[in-house]
Amino acid sequence: MVTTILVGMLCAHLLCFSVMFFLISRRLQGNKLGMDFFALGNLLLGLAYALQFAEGAPAWSLMSVVNHTLTLAAPVAYWLGAMRFFGRSVPLWRPLLAVAGAYVVAQMLVQWKFGLVARYAMLSGMSALLFLVMTITVISGVRTFARDLYGEMVFFALLISGICVLNAIKFVNLMGTGLDALRMSGNFQLLFYVYMSFLATVLPPSIVWLVLRRLTDELRDLAERDPLTKLLNRRGLAEALQRCFKSRTEVSAYLLMADVDHFKHVNDRYGHQAGDQMLCHVAEVLRTHVRGSDLTVRNGGEEFVVVCMNTDVQGVTLLAERLRTAIESTATVVEGVGHPLNCTITIGISHAFTGLDALENAMKEADAALYQGKAAGRNRVEMARAVL
Ligand code: GH3
Ligand code: MG
Ligand code: MG
Repeated sequence: MVTTILVGMLCAHLLCFSVMFFLISRRLQGNKLGMDFFALGNLLLGLAYALQFAEGAPAWSLMSVVNHTLTLAAPVAYWLGAMRFFGRSVPLWRPLLAVAGAYVVAQMLVQWKFGLVARYAMLSGMSALLFLVMTITVISGVRTFARDLYGEMVFFALLISGICVLNAIKFVNLMGTGLDALRMSGNFQLLFYVYMSFLATVLPPSIVWLVLRRLTDELRDLAERDPLTKLLNRRGLAEALQRCFKSRTEVSAYLLMADVDHFKHVNDRYGHQAGDQMLCHVAEVLRTHVRGSDLTVRNGGEEFVVVCMNTDVQGVTLLAERLRTAIESTATVVEGVGHPLNCTITIGISHAFTGLDALENAMKEADAALYQGKAAGRNRVEMARAVL
């Protein structure tokens, strides 16, 4: 009785969240972060449980074949949805219909050759296999496509591996004791559906959380990053610096201001688009030559800022010189221009500073040094004058 009520609750949960995922997906553009696929996955699983409710005892019937097919198609839809969430453009209907069609045929063959128990065991075995694949995908995602969601992915891997194990045990039980393993009054079935209800309660809000995280990250990027080069903008610099100074006491920083020399000529001669590509190239060279803890910023126009932490005058001068020579020695390949374009930068360096309040002053010092560098002939590094 308890198990039957659990199945009913599970069914209601899945269908409610299917509607919710669908509504969320309608608010999202592009690949919708896979929410439409998750909505479908929930709908398929919800319908499968509804059929199980109507079906009663295990039997060879059309309803049962549809039920098993839906039960197996649901994790496939979830898996495809997860791929979408992580930016892969996978199709939905073709793989889903292929799996469903193949599974209907497989059920008929197994039923005909081995009987009812084997068909039910096949569902548990295939489900265990699918959830194993999902667990492995999630674990490998932690190291590759989902590095920024480490905690969430470990949590998902634990939950999904639970269903995998339960389905594997069900498979073994079915092979050992036959259809008795599916008795709703049995302890294992109770445990199975308690776990499924737990998942149906915990997983959907976790998926909504992932979507919320992605959207708020995108919003923050829009506010704090330059759309052309994807470097921090001035606002992003202030936020990042505040975090740096808050997390470390007594930390001092140097600010480098780099400006592309005679950039106006590039625009005038090769067009604004070529200029944009050169800016992206400069941004990339700067980004790849600084340490991970340094901050790289597009300050506006063709002016960039690098803030270096935990260094001294020698260290920051060496870095500036390295950046200058890196830009000088690498060229930008621009579409439509027959030859690669070279450019140089002039860099001004501030004195060491600590705290966000000192940022404006460091900017002024670096800007003044940069101005001196431009006046002295460009393509050079200039240190701020000593404070008297
Ligand atoms: P200097 O060596 O003195 O720095 O000379 P410059 O030509 O680099 O400097 P100037 O300030 O005269 O010109 C900067 C040019 O940068 C003018 C402006 O049109 C261009 N610019 C600013 N933002 C962008 C942008 O986003 N894309 C492109 N393509 N050009 C930009
Ligand atoms: Mg310039
Ligand atoms: Mg400038």
